[in-house]
Amino acid sequence: MTLLKVDDLVVEHRTPGRPVVRAVAGASLSVAAGEVVGLVGESGCGKSTLARTVCGIGRPASGTVSFQGRPVTPLGLRRRDSSLTGIQMVFQDPYASLNPRRRVGDQIADGLRTAADTSTTPADLLDRVGLPREFATRYPHEFSGGQRQRIAIARALAARPSLLIGDEPISALDASAQAQVARLMRDLAVESGAGLLFISHDLSVVRLIADRIAVMYLGKIVETGRTDEVWADPRHPYTRALLGAIPAPDGAGVLPAELPGDVPDPASPPAGCRFHPRCPKVMDVCREREPEFGPVACWLHEPA
Ligand code: SF4
Ligand code: MG
Repeated sequence: MTLLKVDDLVVEHRTPGRPVVRAVAGASLSVAAGEVVGLVGESGCGKSTLARTVCGIGRPASGTVSFQGRPVTPLGLRRRDSSLTGIQMVFQDPYASLNPRRRVGDQIADGLRTAADTSTTPADLLDRVGLPREFATRYPHEFSGGQRQRIAIARALAARPSLLIGDEPISALDASAQAQVARLMRDLAVESGAGLLFISHDLSVVRLIADRIAVMYLGKIVETGRTDEVWADPRHPYTRALLGAIPAPDGAGVLPAELPGDVPDPASPPAGCRFHPRCPKVMDVCREREPEFGPVACWLHEPA
C-alpha cells in the first residue's frame, strides 16, 4: 500500500529583494507501508525542504503530496508540531530537537499522549531503542550524541507514526554509532509497519537499510530504483559520482576529483540538464533540453 506519494512537487523559498529559490523543482517520490526509501544527494539539493513539505511545514508552489490517500495540507505556523498527522521526523541534531530542561521521560510521554497510548511507558520505549529504562528521569545533556538520537527516535515512535522521516539523522554521530542508529530506525519502522524515508548524503549507510533509493540533485529526483540494482549498476552520472565519493575525515562524502565544482545556486539552475556543468558525459542535447523522465533522468537513458 502506498503511504506517501509526492507528485511533481515544486517548493520555492521567497525572500524579499532576492531571486526566488526553487529548492524542490518538480520531484516525485513514493513510500509504501513497511518500506524503507533512502533519499540521497549532496547538501543543498532540496532533500530537507522536500521532507519538511511532506510534514506540512511550508506550502508547495505546485504539485501534490498525499499521505494515506489524503492530500497533506500545510500546517499553520502555530501547529508546526506535525504529531497529529501520523508523520514523525527525526532531525540531524538530536541536541537541538530535545528540550534541555525537561527529563527525557517527560518528552517521550508527549508522544504517547499524542497517540492516546496509556499502556506504554516512556521506559518501555527507551528499552525498545536499546537504552536503560532508568534514563527516563535524566536530562538530554547527560547523554552522548548517539544516545540522544536514540531518545529522539523513542519520542518519535511514541506517537505511533505511520511514516517516520529521518533528515540526516546520523550525520552528526560518530562513525561507530551511525550504522547502529540507521539500523535501529529501519528495524523499528518495519516492525511497526510504518514506512521510513531516510535522508542522508552517506550512500554506504543507506545501502545497509534502504529497499529503494532516490537520488536527488538540485531539486529533482534524477534516479530511483531498488537499492541493490542501483548499487550494482548506477546509471545516472551523478549517482555514479556519489557512489565513488570518498569519505572525508568529518564523515561527509567528497565527490571524485573528475567532478568539478559544487552544487550550483538553486536560484539560477543551469539550463537543460541541471547536472550538465559537472557531468563527465555531457552532450549537446544536455545543455538545451531537460531530461524530464524517469527512472533515470538523463539523456543517456531516455526510455524507448
Ligand atoms: Fe550528463 Fe547529459 Fe545525462 Fe545530464 S543528461 S547527466 S549532462 S549525460
Ligand atoms: Mg538538509
